[in-house]
Amino acid sequence: MNHQLSFDREHIWHPYTSMTDPLPVYLVESAHGVLIKLKGGRELIDGMSSWWAAIHGYNHPVLNAAIQEQAEQMSHVMFGGLTHEPAVELCRLLVELTPDGLDKVFLCDSGSVAVEVALKMALQYQHARGQAEKHRLLTARGGYHGDTFHAMSVCDPVTGMHTVFSDALPGQLFCPRPKSKFDGPWQKNDIAVMADLLDRHAHECAAVIIEPVVQGAGGMWFYHPQYLRELRTLCDQHDVLLIFDEIATGFGRTGRLFAAEHAGVSPDIMCVGKALTGGYLSLAATLTTKKVAGIISKGDPGVFMHGPTFMGNPLACAVAAASINLLLETDWQEKILGIELQLKKELEPARKLENVADVRVLGAIGVVEMEHPVDMAVLQKFFVDRGVWIRPFGCLVYLMPPFIINREDLSRLTSVLLEAIGR
Ligand SMILES: *Cc1c(COP(=O)(O)O)cnc(C)c1O
Repeated sequence: MNHQLSFDREHIWHPYTSMTDPLPVYLVESAHGVLIKLKGGRELIDGMSSWWAAIHGYNHPVLNAAIQEQAEQMSHVMFGGLTHEPAVELCRLLVELTPDGLDKVFLCDSGSVAVEVALKMALQYQHARGQAEKHRLLTARGGYHGDTFHAMSVCDPVTGMHTVFSDALPGQLFCPRPKSKFDGPWQKNDIAVMADLLDRHAHECAAVIIEPVVQGAGGMWFYHPQYLRELRTLCDQHDVLLIFDEIATGFGRTGRLFAAEHAGVSPDIMCVGKALTGGYLSLAATLTTKKVAGIISKGDPGVFMHGPTFMGNPLACAVAAASINLLLETDWQEKILGIELQLKKELEPARKLENVADVRVLGAIGVVEMEHPVDMAVLQKFFVDRGVWIRPFGCLVYLMPPFIINREDLSRLTSVLLEAIGR
């Protein structure tokens, strides 16, 4: 084995892996466009966008230039008492593009932290209004909101991390995930359990947190936008804040700039991350309304209690602003619609295979759900041997390619995927 790979195996944790019996990892030399190049020369067509992030593909000249130019000015300065053009530019874009009313921006380092910040905002808001007893959170099962402690507490209690950490986690309230499919009929019953939980628990609830329309890592499930409209009304009636976690869905992935637009609903607090920097650097943001920010700021202690060391990192802000502008300059809606139609057509034959439970496509996300969990080790090797990078989890084999992918490369991804699950 290559000595770097053997060092890696001996000493380096990867996401959700064993240190004693890890699955193999592949050594990447470089990446360009939709191609990931392995040491030794093999090239893989990327079907994952490095977990929703690399929407413009890799090594993009415009994004490279944004980082290089910013590095010539400064790579970082503290955000306490100082500000800079990249942060102002990025926040101006976020305020303008996100749903109405979200116009106060908190910049932070990663998606999980953006969720922590959102939950702290909700708690501090209730505290500032003299309602400190409203500190629990309500969410739907099947969600994923990150790996840090409070974020973990609102992840799905079965597939999430509750089994190991349950004694240490705050107890939150869960209702079943919405069953009405994104493009199916709306079933009124879907919202009934949520309505009932709010009836009984609103007095102790700070907020409802949910991934709008697409539940990502918790099951790649697409539900009916009407759910969000009903939820908005219920939250208002019960004096509970509504938080949208758009970390996976933001910046075009579902065919709209933000998934909330499918429902035409504005949350009180919203998290973005992942594709924010086009996959270049770790950066996330939590946005809220003038009302929530105002109440937090007038309450005790008069400030919002959070402030990461690398808050508003100029390199990350510069590349994020460049990535958003790059997206807006292209005909991204057309492009994603094209990917959606092609995924629908080319993944449809999977539905006939006997071990397949469901096939679903929304925007640039194509999912094949199997009846049983797949053998990761076998599939991973099969995909790499066929020149594609697809990383299944559990029962889900799915594609979410960079938006710049061409028809031919996307066909290669879908045909190798079909070949793999047909075996
Ligand atoms: C990935 C993800 C997170 C966590 O983001 P990290 O950057 O991995 O901390 C939170 N919520 C959703 C919906 C995500 O997809």
